[in-house]
Amino acid sequence: MLARFVNSLPTGLSQRITKLYFQVLVRNQRELHSSVEYHQYSNMDVKILPALKDNYMYLLVDKATNEAAVVDPVETKTVLQAVHDHQLKLTTVLTTHHHWDHAGGNEELAKQVPGIEVYGGDDRIGALTKKVEHNTIFNIGNLMVQCLFTPCHTMGHICYYVTTPGEGSDGVVFTGDTLFLAGCGRFFEGNAEQMYNAFSILGSLPDNTKVYCGHEYTLQNLKFALHVEPNNNEILKKIAWSELRREEGKPTVPSTIGEEKSYNPFMRVYEAEVMQHAKAQNAIQTMNNIRLEKDSFQ
Ligand SMILES: [Zn+2]
Repeated sequence: MLARFVNSLPTGLSQRITKLYFQVLVRNQRELHSSVEYHQYSNMDVKILPALKDNYMYLLVDKATNEAAVVDPVETKTVLQAVHDHQLKLTTVLTTHHHWDHAGGNEELAKQVPGIEVYGGDDRIGALTKKVEHNTIFNIGNLMVQCLFTPCHTMGHICYYVTTPGEGSDGVVFTGDTLFLAGCGRFFEGNAEQMYNAFSILGSLPDNTKVYCGHEYTLQNLKFALHVEPNNNEILKKIAWSELRREEGKPTVPSTIGEEKSYNPFMRVYEAEVMQHAKAQNAIQTMNNIRLEKDSFQ
């Protein structure tokens, strides 16, 4: 009916209306900042659920039992729909930190899923049932989750490192707002020494550990990385790849710990070129100075 009406109009006008119609369609599909992706590993799956303006929530699934955990479920409706679509048994919330764009959905989800366990390292986290510390270990089905205490962005920030017995070193780590692809979180509650320690802990994970972070900030971060290290080819390669991904609306997560070591300036604070750029004498001072510079970098 709409098509017949549009066709009855003069050609120029009908073309304009058709174009407008498709622009609206595209915009509706683009309500999400990135497309949903399902990454399958030998024993676990990670479903990327984009949320808000540039946040990522993640569903972590143990393939053997269909038991699932959700990382930072700020948009509960989206999470529950995905749980329903994949017929998962959602038992656990993994909260990286108390900021509302990560923990803001906890109370609602706890209401919707009675008995769900909410993990986190900070009393300010809503609906918290399991307060964890550095190296607290627990299971999601057969998956083993190890908590890494990484205070700085907030004083109770936890990263979750997940492995399975059969997966060897093929693990994944959910880094919240501590480690971003090619960047790091702002030092809202902590200092450079703490972020340096956090990055040492994350940097000691196996190089092929996949990094799933809390926001899609990759291209902005890489722009700053190139400013710090103009001669680093790995940065140029990652920019080219990330631009292709973003043009298609695809997420740039995950990277790997090994990749981060090659282009992330905050992982490279001991490198001579990064130290020189920061006009600093040691790694912690370098961390401090480049974070300060990044805070106002356009
Ligand atoms: Zn945050």
